[in-house]
Amino acid sequence: MTKPVCTLEGILEALVSEDIVEQEKASMVTSLVSAQVRKSLHPLEIIAGRQWNHKSNPQQPLSLDMLTDWLAEKSELSRYHFDPLKMDVASCTSITSYAYASRFGILPVKVTASEVVIAVTDPYRLEWMDELDRIVNKPITTVLANPRELKNYLIEFYSISKAMEGAGNKALGELPSNIQNLEQLIELGKTGKVDAEDQHIVSIVDWLMQYAFSQRASDIHIEPRREQGNVRFRIDGVMHQVYEIPANITAAVISRIKIMGRLDVAEKRKPQDGRIKTLSPDGAEIELRLSSMPTAFGEKLVLRIFDPEVLVKNFAALGLEKALGLEKKESTIWNDMISRPYGIILVTGPTGSGKTTTLYTSLKHLATPEVNVCTIEDPIELVEPAFNQMQVQHNIRLDFATGVKTLLRQDPDIIMVGEIRDRETAEMAVQAALTGHLVLSTLHTNDAPSAIARLAEIGVPSYLITATLIGVVAQRLVRTLCPQCKHETSFDPLEWQALIKPWTTSPPDKIAVAEGCLECRQTGFIGRVGIYEMMALSDELKQEIDDNFDLINFRKAAIRLGMKPLNLAGAQKVARGLTTIEEVLKVAPPRYDL
Ligand SMILES: [Zn+2]
Repeated sequence: MTKPVCTLEGILEALVSEDIVEQEKASMVTSLVSAQVRKSLHPLEIIAGRQWNHKSNPQQPLSLDMLTDWLAEKSELSRYHFDPLKMDVASCTSITSYAYASRFGILPVKVTASEVVIAVTDPYRLEWMDELDRIVNKPITTVLANPRELKNYLIEFYSISKAMEGAGNKALGELPSNIQNLEQLIELGKTGKVDAEDQHIVSIVDWLMQYAFSQRASDIHIEPRREQGNVRFRIDGVMHQVYEIPANITAAVISRIKIMGRLDVAEKRKPQDGRIKTLSPDGAEIELRLSSMPTAFGEKLVLRIFDPEVLVKNFAALGLEKALGLEKKESTIWNDMISRPYGIILVTGPTGSGKTTTLYTSLKHLATPEVNVCTIEDPIELVEPAFNQMQVQHNIRLDFATGVKTLLRQDPDIIMVGEIRDRETAEMAVQAALTGHLVLSTLHTNDAPSAIARLAEIGVPSYLITATLIGVVAQRLVRTLCPQCKHETSFDPLEWQALIKPWTTSPPDKIAVAEGCLECRQTGFIGRVGIYEMMALSDELKQEIDDNFDLINFRKAAIRLGMKPLNLAGAQKVARGLTTIEEVLKVAPPRYDL
């Protein structure tokens, strides 16, 4: 078998001879495609652009990925898949210049003490090898990459390393920062007058944010260390190391972000917080909440990314069930609770368990033009035009309790209180409910029944609990399996039993697992879904709440009257192939106290 030459003609000839492409189609393309297009696109990109299907296997589209696989096999090179989070951009781009790399369509992707791995797009053009051999002085391995991806990463990696270099030793000048403004719409990269040094820092910050958005990150962490700064992203709840920045540039990057968030740049010893509004590459408004903390090596910054699409799941398009990932029965219970005219509904769970999403999404559903929805929050996590939101401000003694008092004078129908953590707030919530308002709030407890114990503990008498509380939902988030690479598998029924202890239900026939693919960056998971323990306070259950409240008896009664505990709710998601037993066990361990 002759090797194909990596030209349009050469590749098409090989594809025709292997019965992958029809001869007529190949001839048509070679006669149609202009010299201009040949110059700017890789032959595989031109062929993939025709959107043909495999000649002898018509179900299979000739995608760029499939064609790249084919060329890798043909040229006996390993196929390379980019995972930018795993690449050391600085050392990769130090091997060769941008001009040289783009001329030959190559990109160094891995540099270790013993070898250099170079991704290529043309496996038969190896003129660059001799020269690089002399420079790197260690064995070079070539791997084949998708030509479009390589081109994109080439530009991205060289522009970020150029910005890092340019930023060099120059510290960022300080700008006036005494502007009081809750939100400031900042268009990335357009900052008015910036001098040359600043522009590099601006580019780095832009790149970090755009990169975080494209990787679906929920948080960006910028952490100063003695020698360098670390940038890490949290994606689907797990931290990933992204980049190491020299210490002095880290400081400038942090200053730049502080300016964007209207923080006091000069203040480095006190924790501060702020917010930034910016635009994603596709033009959607994204809000970032910024928090600084002094550490041994300087200020650490965390940017939480509030993508409104993610935080307020689109109700109209999805409906409550899909938006929150509720099972049918759960959706009925929740809908019934939130459509009551007055009373208190509590959402419980640890930080990061999706309580805010549940509250915002439900409030958004309730916020029709006929009702007045008011909130008191600390902090306001997402600015929603349909609500009247108030921020807790301790310096002027505006806390949750006084906030509710103020809201009550504002003729509200529905009130959302960020959190009930003291007696005053609880009393105000009860009073609001007794005077005909629907109150939604959160509480820090591990499960739904414990919310009653918590309310009693902070001093709410049992008769007021039964008079006002509509129900409690405890929730957690579990990662959902990647739809691209998940498949059914058999499993050990003992594992199932361990998950649903101390109950027994018959295990499903199959559960799903995922090996990881390009879509999910080899993690096997994309996105998260809530699991819910829904406890509606029926009249029968209210009988169990009195001054001699006993949590264990109460929990038993709640379950007897239909409450599905968290681990069983999670098991339902496992049985439906949405997540794994391990994921549920991580957030909802089995109960032994029953
Ligand atoms: Zn996958």
